[in-house]
Amino acid sequence: MKNQARVVVIGGGVVGCSVLYHLTKAGWKDVLLVERDRLTSGSTWHAAGGFHTLNGDPNVAKLQGYTIGLYDELEKISGQACGMHRSGGILLADTPERMEWLKMAHARARYLGLETQIISTAEAKKMHPLLEEKYFVGAMIDAADGNLDPEGTTHAYAKSARIGGAEIEQNCRVTDLKPRSDGSWDVITVKGNIHAEHVVNCGGLWAREVGRMVGLELPVLAMEHMYLVTDDMPEVIAYNKERGHELPHILDFKSEIYMRQERSGIVLGTYETACKPWQPKETPWDFGQELLQPDLDRIAPSLELGYKHFPALAKAGIKRVINGPFTFTPDGNPLVGPVQGLRNFWCACGVMAGFSQGGGVGLALSHWMINGDPGFDVWAMDIARYGEWATRTYTNEKVRENYARRFSVKFPNEELLAARPQQTTPLYDKMLAQGAVMGDTWGLETPLWFAPKGVEAKDIFSFHRSNDFKHVKAEVKATRNGVGVTEIANFAKYRFTGSGAESYLSRLMTNKMPRTGRIILTPMLNPQGKLIGDFTIAKAKDECFYMWGSSQAQKYHMRWFEQHLPADHTVKIERLDMQLVGLSIAGPKSREVLQQLTDEDVSNAAFKFMDHRSMDIAHCPALINRVTYTGDLGYEIWITPEYQRRLYEEIMKAGKAHGIVNFGMRALLSMRLEKNFPTWYRELRPIYGGFEAGMDRFIDLTKNDFIGRDAAMEEKRTGGKLRRVSMIVDADDADVLGDEPIWHKGKVVGWATSGGYAHYVDKSMAQGYVPKELAEDVSKGAFEIEIIGENRKATIIPQPPLDPEGKRMRS
Ligand SMILES: Cc1cc2nc3c(=O)[nH]c(=O)nc-3n(C[C@H](O)[C@H](O)[C@H](O)COP(=O)(O)OP(=O)(O)OC[C@H]3O[C@@H](n4cnc5c(N)ncnc54)[C@H](O)[C@@H]3O)c2cc1C
Repeated sequence: MKNQARVVVIGGGVVGCSVLYHLTKAGWKDVLLVERDRLTSGSTWHAAGGFHTLNGDPNVAKLQGYTIGLYDELEKISGQACGMHRSGGILLADTPERMEWLKMAHARARYLGLETQIISTAEAKKMHPLLEEKYFVGAMIDAADGNLDPEGTTHAYAKSARIGGAEIEQNCRVTDLKPRSDGSWDVITVKGNIHAEHVVNCGGLWAREVGRMVGLELPVLAMEHMYLVTDDMPEVIAYNKERGHELPHILDFKSEIYMRQERSGIVLGTYETACKPWQPKETPWDFGQELLQPDLDRIAPSLELGYKHFPALAKAGIKRVINGPFTFTPDGNPLVGPVQGLRNFWCACGVMAGFSQGGGVGLALSHWMINGDPGFDVWAMDIARYGEWATRTYTNEKVRENYARRFSVKFPNEELLAARPQQTTPLYDKMLAQGAVMGDTWGLETPLWFAPKGVEAKDIFSFHRSNDFKHVKAEVKATRNGVGVTEIANFAKYRFTGSGAESYLSRLMTNKMPRTGRIILTPMLNPQGKLIGDFTIAKAKDECFYMWGSSQAQKYHMRWFEQHLPADHTVKIERLDMQLVGLSIAGPKSREVLQQLTDEDVSNAAFKFMDHRSMDIAHCPALINRVTYTGDLGYEIWITPEYQRRLYEEIMKAGKAHGIVNFGMRALLSMRLEKNFPTWYRELRPIYGGFEAGMDRFIDLTKNDFIGRDAAMEEKRTGGKLRRVSMIVDADDADVLGDEPIWHKGKVVGWATSGGYAHYVDKSMAQGYVPKELAEDVSKGAFEIEIIGENRKATIIPQPPLDPEGKRMRS
């Protein structure tokens, strides 16, 4: 075995082999895969081998499409058959809500270029005569569904990688990983040590244990998963004879089963509610190619329903039951990318659908390693999306919830309950006592809306406007007409100090740094000129800056900040987390409320829009910014947690005469819509350029050289391809949520990124991206947005419908 390699990939399952192949394909030849046992010996060998494109995140769905398209290429290069069966699939809806969900998935597939079709139950029955029509209300066809041979496919990746120059060492367990000061690694194996520039954790069932070698507790847990194989069935034989092809795949959400044809019988697997973790603390190293004891009692409720829905199955004998473990993350998507705090250590693990996702994971990771950027929007699978709050036991609860709900409808206003409340602010019980309905933002409980006295503080889940609608409207109106207060502890907060802080930030950000006591808004770009951040920065004093951003992206951003730190130790970065909590007061009366709480002059002349101050408010030492995301007159007040209760109580006391109300995140998001403000993760993502996103006034091409400036200049010159637009939508009881196709003259030309009801201006609104040429078409109803299967007229509005000159926030 060689003792030196540019990359050591740990793990020879389908994911490790895909990473290895993609590295060679992208041009890195000196790559070595080490496998504890033999290829496929983790969870890969006993997989059912099914693949599909369906995923809640459109970008992951796209990468799944890539994976499925890759198998022909692998077979061609390697000469190894993948055992492909491209039989197509039918997803069966049992309720109107599920049907709506399928219609939305179908709409999304339009702009992803995926081939789906909505059909009636009768049509589904024609395609799959085993199903009992009366239990279903409709269906969707996914033409890309199919299945393959897991072993053959993994070997096809491995052979293709070898042809590309890679080496593979089997029976070679990695026992430890030791970092060197130059960022490279000593990989300690049972066959000797390897010095590697990069290490990739593709440890699958042992990804946690490999993570622990470098001090990580990865949010990954293996679950037992069962599928059974029936004896040959006369119904299947007859179908094949008559039609000359296989039965399509079936996904029956209600009975939690998936099934497909295997020889002349059926493979039937379940995602049962009574699910069971496997080895919740530690995976034994000597676990071989073993199966677990089947437990049909656990999946009996699913089987009973399945037998009702597909009566022929009830008569079929069971030939084999497979029970095997494979890994999940709390949200079911993989953990991919470089790990913040470690150099040259990469993950590609927690992949629960290796045959739908493995190719896309390998492609994105190889680009990331070689070019410094995945080349796609991989946020939904970025390892940085989890914070320290995703502990081992938290992961256990969330994974079980996710597994049990795999075939459940997830509504946009549904907050999942497992492992909550994980983190709370000192106001948590006060908020609950006032009717707050809470949501989870990056592990922190945050008020979403407030149920007035006599109204149950609970969401009714729906794709349509729901029970919160009128209460959110009341919060928005009271705030815009008077004053409201909301918790903002869920923002990310950072402090940058040191003699190099200003030039460092200036190099990272597109806008000029503020003068002392002032605030700027600024995007952050990658070298390709794409948006990787959007921040508010205040200069508190020389060599001290505070910065606020999106909470979900804290690790993502810290990873970038650390990568660009100067070696001379002149910059110190602190992620402040809950060391700072905040309250925002907004609305025309907010200044009067603030003035009652301080003896400092907070008049418009003394404390201007975009000013930053440190002052006592209600006797509490606070940092205060004169900005709010509502787009109204308002202030963000930041204090340490021990003062938060007092500050809140004093604000409420001072605000009483002005009719102060609590408002939650939903009111805040509604208010930002009517100001055309974009939001990180929806409108601002690494697939859009700064000018495409309409961030022009925050990108100063004349200042010092900043990361992404050349690309930004080029984008400015050419105008880029897309434009972010705001639209008024002719909707009635369902608004845009995000990820709906945008139509123009009968063609899908773009997609919505977010939407909702703008309560103050009383309009349904959306934001999204369209080709830049079409962004000029502001004629009434020129566009349509497909909302739950219905096209709704939409009109681009270049100016925000509320206060286009920004007088409210400046006055
Ligand atoms: C019953 C069942 C049915 C399934 N059905 C499907 C399906 O229909 N479709 C689908 O897409 N997916 C399915 N899956 C899931 C699929 O198997 C996984 O997504 C996939 O196997 C994950 O591959 P992996 O490479 O990440 O992990 P693994 O296959 O677990 O591979 C990890 C490898 O790393 C090696 N390794 C770990 N630690 C070390 C170390 N320290 N040193 C050296 N080597 C190490 C292990 O030996 C192992 O070979 C199913 C799984 C099961 C159990």
